[in-house]
Amino acid sequence: MLSVKNISKIYQSGFNKLTVLNNISFEVAPGETAAIVGPSGSGKTTLLGLCAGLDRYDAGSITLYDSLLSELDEDGLAQIRNQHVGFVFQNFQLLPTLTALENVMVPMELQGALNAKKKALALLDKVGLADRATHYASELSGGEQQRIALARAFSNNPKILFADEPTGNLDTETGQKVEQLLFNLNRDAGTTLVLVTHDLELANKTEHIIRLKGGVLV
Ligand code: ADP
Repeated sequence: MLSVKNISKIYQSGFNKLTVLNNISFEVAPGETAAIVGPSGSGKTTLLGLCAGLDRYDAGSITLYDSLLSELDEDGLAQIRNQHVGFVFQNFQLLPTLTALENVMVPMELQGALNAKKKALALLDKVGLADRATHYASELSGGEQQRIALARAFSNNPKILFADEPTGNLDTETGQKVEQLLFNLNRDAGTTLVLVTHDLELANKTEHIIRLKGGVLV
Protein backbone atom coordinates (compact mmCIF):
# COMPACT_ATOMS: atom_id res chain seq x y z
CA MET A 1 0.00 0.00 0.00
CA LEU A 2 2.79 2.39 0.96
CA SER A 3 6.46 1.88 0.21
CA VAL A 4 8.94 4.54 1.31
CA LYS A 5 12.51 4.03 0.09
CA ASN A 6 15.51 6.15 1.07
CA ILE A 7 13.49 9.34 1.31
CA SER A 8 15.15 12.66 1.96
CA LYS A 9 13.54 16.06 2.26
CA ILE A 10 15.37 19.36 2.32
CA TYR A 11 13.75 22.69 3.16
CA GLN A 12 15.52 25.70 1.75
CA SER A 13 15.04 29.20 3.12
CA GLY A 14 17.39 31.81 1.67
CA PHE A 15 20.90 30.36 1.71
CA ASN A 16 20.05 27.88 4.46
CA LYS A 17 19.36 24.27 3.66
CA LEU A 18 17.75 22.14 6.32
CA THR A 19 17.66 18.37 5.83
CA VAL A 20 14.51 17.43 7.75
CA LEU A 21 14.33 13.79 6.61
CA ASN A 22 17.38 11.72 5.84
CA ASN A 23 17.26 8.35 4.09
CA ILE A 24 13.98 7.05 5.56
CA SER A 25 12.61 3.66 4.45
CA PHE A 26 9.60 1.63 5.60
CA GLU A 27 6.63 -0.25 4.19
CA VAL A 28 2.98 -0.59 5.20
CA ALA A 29 0.92 -3.39 3.68
CA PRO A 30 -2.80 -3.09 2.83
CA GLY A 31 -4.95 -3.14 5.95
CA GLU A 32 -2.04 -2.60 8.32
CA THR A 33 -1.72 0.18 10.89
CA ALA A 34 1.37 2.27 11.57
CA ALA A 35 2.35 5.11 13.88
CA ILE A 36 5.02 7.71 13.22
CA VAL A 37 6.44 8.87 16.55
CA GLY A 38 9.33 11.03 17.74
CA PRO A 39 10.10 14.35 19.40
CA SER A 40 8.68 17.63 18.18
CA GLY A 41 10.57 18.83 15.09
CA SER A 42 11.80 15.34 14.17
CA GLY A 43 10.03 15.41 10.80
CA LYS A 44 6.82 13.46 11.48
CA THR A 45 4.37 15.87 9.84
CA THR A 46 6.71 16.36 6.89
CA LEU A 47 6.95 12.59 6.37
CA LEU A 48 3.17 12.16 6.58
CA GLY A 49 2.64 14.92 3.99
CA LEU A 50 5.16 13.35 1.61
CA CYS A 51 3.51 9.92 1.91
CA ALA A 52 0.08 11.43 1.17
CA GLY A 53 1.37 13.29 -1.89
CA LEU A 54 0.81 16.72 -0.32
CA ASP A 55 4.45 17.70 -0.76
CA ARG A 56 7.45 16.61 -2.85
CA TYR A 57 10.53 14.72 -1.69
CA ASP A 58 14.09 15.48 -2.81
CA ALA A 59 15.55 11.97 -2.98
CA GLY A 60 14.34 8.38 -2.80
CA SER A 61 10.94 7.08 -3.86
CA ILE A 62 7.45 6.74 -2.43
CA THR A 63 5.01 4.30 -3.96
CA LEU A 64 1.42 4.76 -2.84
CA TYR A 65 -1.21 2.31 -4.05
CA ASP A 66 0.95 1.26 -7.02
CA SER A 67 1.83 4.82 -8.08
CA LEU A 68 5.32 6.24 -7.87
CA LEU A 69 4.50 9.70 -6.54
CA SER A 70 7.48 11.51 -8.14
CA GLU A 71 6.23 10.46 -11.59
CA LEU A 72 2.88 12.21 -11.12
CA ASP A 73 2.12 15.83 -11.92
CA GLU A 74 -0.16 17.87 -9.62
CA ASP A 75 -3.31 16.58 -11.34
CA GLY A 76 -2.09 13.00 -11.00
CA LEU A 77 -1.38 13.50 -7.31
CA ALA A 78 -4.80 15.08 -6.78
CA GLN A 79 -6.43 12.14 -8.52
CA ILE A 80 -4.67 9.60 -6.26
CA ARG A 81 -5.61 11.63 -3.18
CA ASN A 82 -9.24 12.00 -4.24
CA GLN A 83 -9.64 8.34 -5.10
CA HIS A 84 -7.65 6.52 -2.47
CA VAL A 85 -6.46 8.78 0.34
CA GLY A 86 -8.06 10.28 3.42
CA PHE A 87 -6.19 12.92 5.41
CA VAL A 88 -6.90 14.28 8.88
CA PHE A 89 -4.92 17.45 9.54
CA GLN A 90 -3.55 18.66 12.82
CA ASN A 91 -6.11 21.07 14.35
CA PHE A 92 -8.92 19.68 12.17
CA GLN A 93 -8.84 22.37 9.43
CA LEU A 94 -12.61 22.63 9.06
CA LEU A 95 -14.12 25.65 7.35
CA PRO A 96 -15.62 27.63 10.28
CA THR A 97 -18.29 29.38 8.21
CA LEU A 98 -19.73 26.12 6.89
CA THR A 99 -21.97 23.80 8.87
CA ALA A 100 -20.85 20.36 10.00
CA LEU A 101 -22.84 18.84 7.15
CA GLU A 102 -21.39 21.23 4.56
CA ASN A 103 -17.84 20.55 5.73
CA VAL A 104 -18.35 16.88 4.83
CA MET A 105 -20.66 17.35 1.84
CA VAL A 106 -18.96 20.15 -0.13
CA PRO A 107 -15.70 18.27 -0.83
CA MET A 108 -17.80 15.28 -1.93
CA GLU A 109 -19.81 17.47 -4.30
CA LEU A 110 -16.61 18.99 -5.70
CA GLN A 111 -15.47 15.48 -6.52
CA GLY A 112 -18.75 14.80 -8.29
CA ALA A 113 -20.25 12.37 -5.76
CA LEU A 114 -23.91 11.51 -6.32
CA ASN A 115 -26.29 11.86 -3.36
CA ALA A 116 -23.60 13.77 -1.47
CA LYS A 117 -26.03 15.10 1.15
CA LYS A 118 -27.40 11.67 1.99
CA LYS A 119 -23.92 10.17 2.16
CA ALA A 120 -22.61 13.06 4.27
CA LEU A 121 -25.51 12.64 6.72
CA ALA A 122 -24.73 8.92 6.99
CA LEU A 123 -21.08 9.77 7.73
CA LEU A 124 -22.11 12.25 10.43
CA ASP A 125 -24.26 9.52 11.93
CA LYS A 126 -21.29 7.13 11.86
CA VAL A 127 -19.18 9.53 13.94
CA GLY A 128 -22.14 10.14 16.29
CA LEU A 129 -22.85 13.71 15.23
CA ALA A 130 -26.02 13.55 13.14
CA ASP A 131 -27.63 15.94 15.63
CA ARG A 132 -24.95 18.59 14.92
CA ALA A 133 -25.43 18.64 11.12
CA THR A 134 -26.69 22.22 10.97
CA HIS A 135 -24.23 23.66 13.52
CA TYR A 136 -21.41 25.79 12.19
CA ALA A 137 -17.97 24.23 12.63
CA SER A 138 -17.01 27.21 14.82
CA GLU A 139 -19.80 26.24 17.25
CA LEU A 140 -18.46 22.73 17.83
CA SER A 141 -16.10 21.51 20.54
CA GLY A 142 -12.60 20.29 19.65
CA GLY A 143 -13.66 16.65 19.89
CA GLU A 144 -16.71 17.25 17.71
CA GLN A 145 -14.62 19.10 15.14
CA GLN A 146 -12.17 16.20 15.03
CA ARG A 147 -15.01 13.73 14.45
CA ILE A 148 -16.34 15.93 11.61
CA ALA A 149 -12.81 15.97 10.17
CA LEU A 150 -12.82 12.17 10.34
CA ALA A 151 -16.22 11.98 8.63
CA ARG A 152 -14.80 14.19 5.85
CA ALA A 153 -11.68 12.02 5.60
CA PHE A 154 -13.82 8.85 5.34
CA SER A 155 -16.04 10.31 2.62
CA ASN A 156 -14.18 8.85 -0.37
CA ASN A 157 -13.88 5.39 1.24
CA PRO A 158 -10.09 5.76 1.34
CA LYS A 159 -7.79 2.77 0.94
CA ILE A 160 -5.38 4.55 3.25
CA LEU A 161 -5.99 7.20 5.90
CA PHE A 162 -3.26 9.53 7.13
CA ALA A 163 -3.93 11.37 10.38
CA ASP A 164 -1.71 13.97 12.04
CA GLU A 165 -2.09 13.84 15.83
CA PRO A 166 -5.72 12.65 15.63
CA THR A 167 -6.06 12.51 19.41
CA GLY A 168 -3.82 15.47 20.23
CA ASN A 169 -5.58 18.39 21.97
CA LEU A 170 -8.48 16.13 23.01
CA ASP A 171 -9.32 14.99 26.52
CA THR A 172 -8.79 11.29 27.24
CA GLU A 173 -12.40 10.24 26.79
CA THR A 174 -12.87 12.13 23.50
CA GLY A 175 -9.47 10.91 22.30
CA GLN A 176 -10.59 7.34 22.91
CA LYS A 177 -13.76 7.92 20.88
CA VAL A 178 -11.70 9.18 17.95
CA GLU A 179 -9.23 6.31 18.33
CA GLN A 180 -12.14 3.85 18.25
CA LEU A 181 -13.49 5.38 15.05
CA LEU A 182 -10.10 5.00 13.40
CA PHE A 183 -9.62 1.39 14.44
CA ASN A 184 -13.22 0.54 13.50
CA LEU A 185 -12.53 1.89 10.02
CA ASN A 186 -9.43 -0.30 9.83
CA ARG A 187 -11.29 -3.38 11.07
CA ASP A 188 -14.54 -2.94 9.12
CA ALA A 189 -13.35 -1.46 5.82
CA GLY A 190 -9.74 -2.70 5.87
CA THR A 191 -8.49 0.88 5.60
CA THR A 192 -4.75 1.17 6.09
CA LEU A 193 -3.92 3.67 8.85
CA VAL A 194 -0.81 5.82 9.18
CA LEU A 195 -0.92 8.08 12.23
CA VAL A 196 1.43 10.69 13.60
CA THR A 197 1.09 10.68 17.36
CA HIS A 198 2.69 11.68 20.64
CA ASP A 199 0.45 9.18 22.39
CA LEU A 200 2.56 6.07 22.93
CA GLU A 201 -0.45 4.09 24.12
CA LEU A 202 -2.10 4.74 20.76
CA ALA A 203 1.15 3.99 18.90
CA ASN A 204 1.48 0.67 20.72
CA LYS A 205 -1.90 -0.42 19.35
CA THR A 206 -0.57 -0.20 15.77
CA GLU A 207 1.42 -2.87 13.94
CA HIS A 208 4.40 -0.71 12.96
CA ILE A 209 6.09 2.03 14.93
CA ILE A 210 8.21 4.35 12.81
CA ARG A 211 10.38 6.30 15.22
CA LEU A 212 12.10 9.46 14.01
CA LYS A 213 14.80 11.47 15.70
CA GLY A 214 16.31 14.52 14.03
CA GLY A 215 14.97 13.39 10.66
CA VAL A 216 16.52 9.92 10.90
CA LEU A 217 14.69 6.63 11.40
CA VAL A 218 15.74 5.13 14.72
P1 ADP B 1 7.26 17.21 13.66
O1 ADP B 1 5.99 16.89 12.96
O2 ADP B 1 8.04 15.98 14.07
O3 ADP B 1 7.11 18.17 14.81
P2 ADP B 1 7.88 18.71 11.25
O4 ADP B 1 7.84 17.74 10.13
O5 ADP B 1 6.71 19.60 11.45
O6 ADP B 1 8.25 17.93 12.61
O7 ADP B 1 9.16 19.64 11.07
C1 ADP B 1 10.48 19.10 10.92
C2 ADP B 1 11.47 20.23 10.75
O8 ADP B 1 11.24 20.87 9.51
C3 ADP B 1 11.38 21.31 11.81
O9 ADP B 1 12.69 21.72 12.13
C4 ADP B 1 10.60 22.40 11.14
O10 ADP B 1 10.96 23.65 11.63
C5 ADP B 1 11.04 22.25 9.68
N1 ADP B 1 9.99 22.67 8.72
C6 ADP B 1 8.74 22.17 8.65
N2 ADP B 1 8.05 22.73 7.63
C7 ADP B 1 8.91 23.63 7.05
C8 ADP B 1 8.81 24.53 5.93
N3 ADP B 1 7.69 24.61 5.22
N4 ADP B 1 9.89 25.27 5.63
C9 ADP B 1 11.05 25.17 6.34
N5 ADP B 1 11.21 24.34 7.38
C10 ADP B 1 10.15 23.58 7.75
